[in-house]
Amino acid sequence: MKYENESGSFYNYLPPGCKLCRRGAKMVLFVTGLCHRDCFYCPVSKEKLRSDLTFANERPVFSDKDILDEAHSMQALGTGITGGEPLLVLERVLEYIRLLKDEFGPGHHIHLYTARTPSKDVLEQLHSTGLDEIRFHPDPKTWAQLAGSDLAASIEEAKASGLDVGIEIPSLPGAQSVADFTLEHNIFLNLNELEFSPTNSLTLAQQGFTAVDDESSAVAGSKEVAQDIIEQSADLHANFCSSSFKDVVQLRMRLLRTAKTTAREFDEVTPDGTLLYGVIGGDANSIAGLLERLEVPDNLYESGQDRVEMGWWVLEDIADEIGSGFKTWYEECYPTYGRMVVEKIPLDNADAFKV
Ligand code: SF4
Repeated sequence: MKYENESGSFYNYLPPGCKLCRRGAKMVLFVTGLCHRDCFYCPVSKEKLRSDLTFANERPVFSDKDILDEAHSMQALGTGITGGEPLLVLERVLEYIRLLKDEFGPGHHIHLYTARTPSKDVLEQLHSTGLDEIRFHPDPKTWAQLAGSDLAASIEEAKASGLDVGIEIPSLPGAQSVADFTLEHNIFLNLNELEFSPTNSLTLAQQGFTAVDDESSAVAGSKEVAQDIIEQSADLHANFCSSSFKDVVQLRMRLLRTAKTTAREFDEVTPDGTLLYGVIGGDANSIAGLLERLEVPDNLYESGQDRVEMGWWVLEDIADEIGSGFKTWYEECYPTYGRMVVEKIPLDNADAFKV
């Protein structure tokens, strides 16, 4: 077994979709929040679950252009189609697979999650349209009875249609029977570390699950379940994805990819992939006038509605010339859609400013 010490992930096999995900190069296409299931561990937010909304990463999707803009912004090499239950909106899924393959070519790897057991006809449509990989998500209540089930039949049809096939489930007691099933069908197994989210925390706590520690949202014991399973069989094609891997490595890699295309000339890209700049708050016209008088090159600042953003070093250089009528601060944000601000530090508290 190969270990990922940095993040607590480990595996003896990585599906093609996971290889791109590890590089932060997979776009998450949340195709609908509609879902027929009610999993106690469901991490999907209340706003999204059971609503027919589409998002490409953080970006709300209202047109094909939104999807392509997001994919270009992160230089996506592939897409993971998720939900909700994607196959409740099959036509939309097929349309988006076509869209992405037409734009980025056949090498743009696309995988899809489903909690359903699609028919031969649906699987062939998905594959012929360009889907590369399918990950089935059986209900934990059925884990002990998968042999000979509809899922077993669907898996064999998926393999026959030419798709890469696997099962993706949370790492919970009982997962061993799913592992045995994947061995029988010669498909891969992805085990995700179970984690507390705002949506599932009450239910998980009611079922007796606890967090690893005060700092972590990972559920105690989930990692050990995966360790026991993966260590037991060298033939198993299994991968354990830790919650810190998703939060730290995968997200950071995606932010760094996105920052490459979205950083302005004056933004500093931090090692975490966030953007750092300086801000003067106040009437943007007055601030722009001040910057002109101070002969600040116009490629080193950008005016907003009630603020002007600029290189943080520019702000430091002109700090003594800025009147007391304006507020000044350093700001750090995500480079992704919506540019969520993660930190603001007043300029007069510069000692707290660490790059
Ligand atoms: S199938 Fe997925 S989206 Fe639907 S309830 Fe279960 S975990 Fe949530």
